[in-house]
Amino acid sequence: MTASAVETAPVVPVLIGGKWSEPNAASYGNVYNPSSGEVIGRVPMGSSADVDAAVQAAQKAFPAWSDMPVTKRCAIMFKFRELLNQHFDELVKLCTRENGKTIEESKGDVRRGIEVVEFACGVAHLSKGESLPQIADELDAVTMREPIGVCAGITPFNFPAMVPLWMYPIAIACGNTFILKPSEKVPLTANRMAELLIEAGLPDGVMNVVHGGREVVDALCTHPGIASVSFVGSTRVAKHVYTLACSHGKRVQSAGGAKNVLLVMPDADPDPTLRAIMGSSFGNAGQRCMAGSVLMGVGKCADEWRERVVSSIKSVKMDDTNSNPKADMGPVIDGTSRERILGLIETAPKEGGDIAADGRQMKRDRGFFVGPTLIDNVQPNMTVFKEEIFGPVLSMLRPKTLDEALSIMNKVAYGNGASIFTASGSSARKFVREIQCGMLGVNVGVPAPMALFSFSGWNQSFFGDLHVQGVEGVMFYTRQKCVLSRWDSNYVRQHGW
Ligand code: NAD
Repeated sequence: MTASAVETAPVVPVLIGGKWSEPNAASYGNVYNPSSGEVIGRVPMGSSADVDAAVQAAQKAFPAWSDMPVTKRCAIMFKFRELLNQHFDELVKLCTRENGKTIEESKGDVRRGIEVVEFACGVAHLSKGESLPQIADELDAVTMREPIGVCAGITPFNFPAMVPLWMYPIAIACGNTFILKPSEKVPLTANRMAELLIEAGLPDGVMNVVHGGREVVDALCTHPGIASVSFVGSTRVAKHVYTLACSHGKRVQSAGGAKNVLLVMPDADPDPTLRAIMGSSFGNAGQRCMAGSVLMGVGKCADEWRERVVSSIKSVKMDDTNSNPKADMGPVIDGTSRERILGLIETAPKEGGDIAADGRQMKRDRGFFVGPTLIDNVQPNMTVFKEEIFGPVLSMLRPKTLDEALSIMNKVAYGNGASIFTASGSSARKFVREIQCGMLGVNVGVPAPMALFSFSGWNQSFFGDLHVQGVEGVMFYTRQKCVLSRWDSNYVRQHGW
């Protein structure tokens, strides 16, 4: 692509106080179509001044918005849901265009996000308080939940629709105002959804979108006008955001990276288990925080599972996801990511691993492709086991027993997801009870909770207390008042009423 073609790619605008504009940024990042490698947008790498302007707009909008009856706020969410459904195909194509995932995967991305909007439509019920009359003599107790103020959300590249929607529908329905900083790699879907939210009737300043990288993130974490920060991304940045925003007195929920194990017992049902392994490891080109990135075949079944996965990899159709709706797998997000993944694969044979299926050989002339890869004979001390690869690379370990498998799994620093495949309730029960990890699958390859449940990572996969979406999301975006009232019961009698 020529330099002038890059320069003429459209600039991605910010949304502040209900108005879209192009800020005067000192630098711009490239938004790619990962299937072709073309630059399709230039994202302004914003500054603390953009954050300040967004905070001012959000603060101005807060009093009227938080005072609006919750049923009216929810009516706007119902309309937003309608618009997301009406524009479903457009959003799906946009998501595929900037992220590279297949059309089916983008459908899942947008659909899972819409489910959070549906959940947020019920905030009137979910944010109700409790009451206990006569908790002591003539004393009644009532709790009520109130919005917290201006909330910020910082999101990763891998779910351009769903992860932003984990946050702001709930925050806004609860009566807060919001500033979103989407990933600079995928800002287009986030901007389009914000346009639809405005079209749904949201007053100016309730939803704001800024763009950029570290400078904007740090400004969101430190600005005194911001009450909370919700972050989803890598563990390194999740820790940074958690530490910085907490030290500036904010409520923080910060979700990080993952290393998720798929544990296959000898009695697993072969066909559905193979489908689950392939979908979990290579779906979204392995770029899911709930992707299975480690396969453990327990006991003698490991040989069979190596054969099954290798033969299944041979039939994966990797292709341009914009032009080929039948592609099974798309590219990874960008060239840097591709090089990083290839570098990690290279470490495996040097450290004793055996590359059973080598995705490096599935070359393409354009785009950022890495083929599905299986590395066998991986040990817990190897780089591919310790690091989150975040690409279509599955590492295989061969524990002899369920106990040995659980012992290895419980030493993994992360704690997002883990799945067992078995026909035995007893093995499944032992796994569920003993594993130190927040989201578990029993014969389910991607045990990502849907909107009604919170996304409950543990250990290095989450920093904070209340997780995103579900009831914990409502708790996070509201704070409780407890009112104790005492009224003299003789008063009515004394007045003769
Ligand atoms: P990332 O951490 O690089 O970026 C996430 C956000 O942080 C982006 O908005 C980015 O602009 C910002 N950022 C990047 N570097 C920064 C820095 N040095 N200082 C401040 N802000 C910075 O993550 P990514 O590559 O976009 O996404 C992939 C990661 O996200 C993976 O680790 C994946 O496991 C994780 N993820 C986790 C979950 C979860 O729920 N736990 C969900 C999705 C993705």
